Amino acid sequence: MRVNDVVVIGGGVAGASAAYHLARDRARVTLVDRQDEGQATAAGAGIVSPGTDLGPPDPYFPLAFHAVGFYDRLKGELIEDGVREFGYETCGLLHVAVSEEEARRLPNVLRIIKQRREAGAPAVGDIHLLDARQAESLFPPIRRLHGAIYASGAGRVDGRKLRDSLLQGAGRRGASLVRGSAELVVERGRAVGVRVAGRLVFASAVVIASGAWTDSLGAAGAYVPVRPQRGQIAHLTVPDTRTASWPIVVGFYSHYLLTFPQNRVVAGATREDGVGFDYSTTAGGVQEVLSEALRIAPGLASAQIGEFRIGFRPVSPDGLPVIGPVPGVENAYIVSGLGAHGLQLGPYCGYLAAAMAQGLPISLDLSAFSPARFA
Ligand SMILES: Cc1cc2nc3c(=O)[nH]c(=O)nc-3n(C[C@H](O)[C@H](O)[C@H](O)COP(=O)(O)OP(=O)(O)OC[C@H]3O[C@@H](n4cnc5c(N)ncnc54)[C@H](O)[C@@H]3O)c2cc1C
Repeated sequence: MRVNDVVVIGGGVAGASAAYHLARDRARVTLVDRQDEGQATAAGAGIVSPGTDLGPPDPYFPLAFHAVGFYDRLKGELIEDGVREFGYETCGLLHVAVSEEEARRLPNVLRIIKQRREAGAPAVGDIHLLDARQAESLFPPIRRLHGAIYASGAGRVDGRKLRDSLLQGAGRRGASLVRGSAELVVERGRAVGVRVAGRLVFASAVVIASGAWTDSLGAAGAYVPVRPQRGQIAHLTVPDTRTASWPIVVGFYSHYLLTFPQNRVVAGATREDGVGFDYSTTAGGVQEVLSEALRIAPGLASAQIGEFRIGFRPVSPDGLPVIGPVPGVENAYIVSGLGAHGLQLGPYCGYLAAAMAQGLPISLDLSAFSPARFA
């Protein structure tokens, strides 16, 4: 019988990164993933640009800056393990104003982004105000702008490629990858492993990276209040085959556009609370996503609808990630609650969880993300 140093529950970006880094540290690791429909990593858009993000609460930013800085290190690690492609590239970002009133707010946004860059935000690059014509030339389907800010260093990542690269790297380093549903096994307040298809898989530590499904592990005493937030997101196909050079488009609203080679435009996304794990493409969701996309970029009206993807973002009550030891269960560590930012945070947060599970020191202050805050 193989006794693991660590079992990882969940094979999205967070669990894949935890398993990869554990395996790199020569731990014996088994990752168990149920491959649920609606895995957030498989549906996520892929914007990587914390310096231009106006939404998240303050404690998010130091973590996000480290996480995006970590991408460079990850790239080196994966190359060392013979994994050449992991889906991350720099593409730039436009923050657009679609009215005079929004245009008057752009200088303030520019000031915030500059402050973030000075505070060490990676993936910002050069930033300037553009007039409507300059902005529209960078993303041809957009029209009728009133101005924009351009940040040249913003990045995008293909979540599926990133996840698969991490899993491939983990496999190459000796991790066992198992498809199945894992149930946490706790004895006398201590995680001793997981049960998969009736079989016990023992471990000296368990990393819980089960995304939006996290609170279902509460039955074992590891309750952490993470709930699913459904996101419906459209993948459009356009005739122009140079979409790879188009920047991400965001604005004073929660929707966005981003592109992937060769001719794909991704229009996202709904943020639906209270629908549980209902894996449906809905009329309301389709209407919301397409009407917001066409409001900014009427030139997309003739695009073909490739597919709609659905993902369940793992969301915590205060909107911050949940990373750390599970209260009341020794040897169990959680990495969840990555919300709308898990593709940019996931590789680093998985690495942090891997370090915790091995008792390694972590220099970053993670107290704002402690699972104990919900106790
Ligand atoms: C529409 C949409 C757009 C997004 N856009 C962006 C973006 O632009 N930028 C960004 O940074 N982030 C974005 N995100 C967020 C990001 O995708 C998520 O935060 C991130 O992927 C979460 O990763 P995870 O590994 O925690 O969870 P998931 O990817 O959901 O993976 C969890 C895995 O755990 C498995 N699992 C659960 N329970 C068990 C169990 N008991 N046993 C075995 N396996 C189990 C599930 O099957 C699943 O495979 C977006 C998300 C969505 C839905």
